[in-house]
Amino acid sequence: MKLFDLQGKAALVTGGNGGIGLGMARGLAQAGAAVAIAGRDAKKNSAAAKEVGNGAIALACDLKNEQATRKLVDQAAERLGRLDILVNNAGINIRKQPQEYTLEEWREVLDTNLTSAFVASQAAYPHLLRAGGGKIVNIGSMMSIFGAAFVAPYGASKGGIVQLTRALACAWARDRIQVNAVLPGWIDTAMTRQARKDVAGLHERVLARTPAGRWGEAGDLAGVAVFLCASASDFVTGTAIPVDGGYSVQG
Ligand code: NDP
Repeated sequence: MKLFDLQGKAALVTGGNGGIGLGMARGLAQAGAAVAIAGRDAKKNSAAAKEVGNGAIALACDLKNEQATRKLVDQAAERLGRLDILVNNAGINIRKQPQEYTLEEWREVLDTNLTSAFVASQAAYPHLLRAGGGKIVNIGSMMSIFGAAFVAPYGASKGGIVQLTRALACAWARDRIQVNAVLPGWIDTAMTRQARKDVAGLHERVLARTPAGRWGEAGDLAGVAVFLCASASDFVTGTAIPVDGGYSVQG
């Protein structure tokens, strides 16, 4: 269907070598997009690019580094011949009580989850203009909405990404660039497998609170990624869409 067709489009997915990023990259490639997969681990990047197929390429980058991030975006555009879509998905969490964080840890989380999305979006802007418009998808979290004792920097970064989304959406709407956020619920990935080790009772609490009665899978994010990157969403901008099996509406 043309509304969801991404043939001829080129996408950069940060953190696309596993978990949610890989789930979204698969969806974009299935809809026809050529995808650049970026993460720090070159081996994981190559394996993911192979799995995603449709001409996907692998680019190694540490998004905490501003210059490396700018170079990554330019390289993706050069290697794919254009850039229409940026998915700012790379993220980390460090779980502690607020009083226990070092400033270095705070900065590591903010730099990875929030500042990298700003820098990559800035770097992508001229490429999206050249393409006649484009799509940016930022990945928030339930921690964009809710609080928890063990997420001070993570929650700050995920609240911030929603406001960054709104600001970019307003600024670039007339350039035909739509900027939206996705707020995943609890999805089974390397990140949350670690969370379940760190936080006692988390697995059961998520199951009890999620109306769908299950943890999400990375593939659950593919559909929303395709929608937000395709012409079907050309009048949708600045939103933050939960994909959470109902977690955020459970009273
Ligand atoms: P994973 O740990 O499975 O994936 C994280 C990805 O980010 C990896 O591809 C990793 O690649 C990449 N990454 C991390 N740090 C950097 C860095 N400095 N530079 C480049 N790439 C980096 O986690 P998820 O798939 O679960 O998380 C993906 C996104 O979804 C994150 O933003 C997370 O906050 C968000 N999210 C996840 C939820 C969940 O339940 N799983 C819920 C809500 C939001 P590499 O290690 O090779 O660098």
